[in-house]
Amino acid sequence: MKKVILALLVFSLTNAIGQDRKCLLVLLDGIPADVLEKTFTPNIDEVSKKGGYARAYVGGEKGGISESPTISAVGYNSMLTGTWSNKHNVWGNSIKKPNYSYPTIFKAAKDSNPNIKLGIYSTWEDNRTKLLGEGLPETNKLQLDYVFDGYELDTIAFPHDKQREYIKNIDNLVVTEATKSIKNNTPDLSWVYLEYTDDMGHKFGDSPEMTAAVKLADQQIGQLYDAIKVREKKHKEEWLLIITTDHGRSPENGKGHGGQTDRERTTWIAINKSNVNERFRNGLAIVDIFPTVAQFLEIQLDKKVAEQLDGVSFLEH
Ligand SMILES: [Zn+2]
Repeated sequence: MKKVILALLVFSLTNAIGQDRKCLLVLLDGIPADVLEKTFTPNIDEVSKKGGYARAYVGGEKGGISESPTISAVGYNSMLTGTWSNKHNVWGNSIKKPNYSYPTIFKAAKDSNPNIKLGIYSTWEDNRTKLLGEGLPETNKLQLDYVFDGYELDTIAFPHDKQREYIKNIDNLVVTEATKSIKNNTPDLSWVYLEYTDDMGHKFGDSPEMTAAVKLADQQIGQLYDAIKVREKKHKEEWLLIITTDHGRSPENGKGHGGQTDRERTTWIAINKSNVNERFRNGLAIVDIFPTVAQFLEIQLDKKVAEQLDGVSFLEH
């Protein structure tokens, strides 16, 4: 009987032709769709050409019960939980009291398969300690297997300068570590979070500095995508790569965000898989990422969790 269970667990991460399935989520902070679309981003273009690119939205239903601020941590948690603020209860970056009964995709994955390997590579430690809730009783002490974050708390190695060069340096380090870890540890589900684009947005708004930050983020996508391609070439693995952002920016000058204008609500998703369904072109939202990942990795969701999701998968079954 044990053997049967083990076989089922192994099968749950293996597709029909015997390849291991892996998923990498990348969130590039605060890049409006219009800025991305007019900036030269050959690496994101390569991913989009192989799979797809579409505009998406954050912020829940405008004027409705699920309306959510277009603020960073709110967006991250909508990606992670597949729900809006009225459910996950994150309303700002202080992340006061997340409602962990709406589990993240990381928790759902671990619940479905305790052997699944999880990774995080991130310029903001709160993503792991507060949103994923690592080690908390509320998440049944969820543990990640590969962790590269918290560098922003090391003010000796990364002295905090007003130009935010230290964030640029941390993003670079995060990508270097993520690239190595993808090649060597090859987590089943992992998340890369990079911050510098949002910092340049806040500081300079719509500007050459913002454009340069987006180009740099695109180069970092290139490094991550190369690592995935190496894994797929040398190992029997099939990778789902989803790249997105957490909010747009203010219409006046691109410096702020948080409100409900079209530009703040309008985001985008790039994916390396071409078997997208109608949802990808029509009504796509950040909350659709959770069910898409769950489908691809064949994560078995509790009925209650599945029923509470605000998103739907944008991949064909
Ligand atoms: Zn943000």
